[in-house]
Amino acid sequence: MSLKGFIGLGVMGFPMAGHLSKSHSMAVYNRTQSKAEEWLEVYEGKSVSSPEDLGRLCSEVYICVGADKDVREVISGEKGILNTMASGSIIVDHTTTSSTLSKEMSELCLQKEIAYIDAPVSGGQAGAENGTLTIMVGGNKKAYETAVLTMSCYSKFSNLMGPSGSGQLTKMVNQICIAGLLQGLAEGINFSKEVGLETKEVIDVISQGAAQSWQMVNRWETMSSDQYDHGFAVDHMRKDLGIAIEEAKKNSLSLEVTELVDKFYQDIQDMGGNRWDTSSLLRRLKKND
Ligand code: NAP
Repeated sequence: MSLKGFIGLGVMGFPMAGHLSKSHSMAVYNRTQSKAEEWLEVYEGKSVSSPEDLGRLCSEVYICVGADKDVREVISGEKGILNTMASGSIIVDHTTTSSTLSKEMSELCLQKEIAYIDAPVSGGQAGAENGTLTIMVGGNKKAYETAVLTMSCYSKFSNLMGPSGSGQLTKMVNQICIAGLLQGLAEGINFSKEVGLETKEVIDVISQGAAQSWQMVNRWETMSSDQYDHGFAVDHMRKDLGIAIEEAKKNSLSLEVTELVDKFYQDIQDMGGNRWDTSSLLRRLKKND
């Protein structure tokens, strides 16, 4: 029986591959071998020493690495899976990348009769750990219909948005919506404290009304106690916003607020916050007090 393959056992990939292992035989690859060993201490499966070796064993490979260049490396690099994957196989990429990369990978894979679908996720570390991610997909319908059965191990909802790259375009919308919202929440919390209100009471009231959001409900308390270790790193957010800003430029669109918040995240990187999570916009405001 063909194994399901997973590449990239980071904050997201580690638990996602873990969910898969509960109902599928698995092979995993991680660049830093010690993480694969850590994974094998918790879950059942086997680890291989290159993407190429994984391609030999699997007809479905799921990827969750860093950025465009990393996806290119594990798929079409010197030891990439395309060296060994059989025709008729499926590659599902959960990495958040540009839509240009998705189209490039899809065309390359098609030359070997392999389907590539872009399938970025939303829901963060908690969503990956609880198996409740939302997945936005671009690519071939038949491949999606196969992959969706496997992806249901770690997702609560997925949708095929259109041709290759459409999943990534949808993820850009997701990040555009989050950026401005988080800055608004940071400003609101900061304002409430500075004018002498009890932030908890403020949130208790306004989260019952039109200002309510997932970020408000799930982040106000940790933001208020200056905790920024929820998994979605500022470095990744800057990568995502950069992708959205680039795509907007290509389409002569303006993303004024997104560009501004991207600069704020740059300030956070300058403060040493590369791995702090995205709600750390509040710490930047406090610094500027
Ligand atoms: P992460 O913790 O930094 O993990 C990245 C993983 O990719 C690591 O296993 C890393 O291997 C591997 N990797 C990176 N470059 C590689 C390369 N060139 N070749 C082989 N392996 C490589 O990142 P993450 O938080 O899991 O995020 C992964 C992706 O999901 C990103 O695109 C991110 O934007 C997206 N995402 C993240 C979240 C979140 O909340 N964290 C939410 C939604 C989407 P090593 O162990 O060797 O470093």
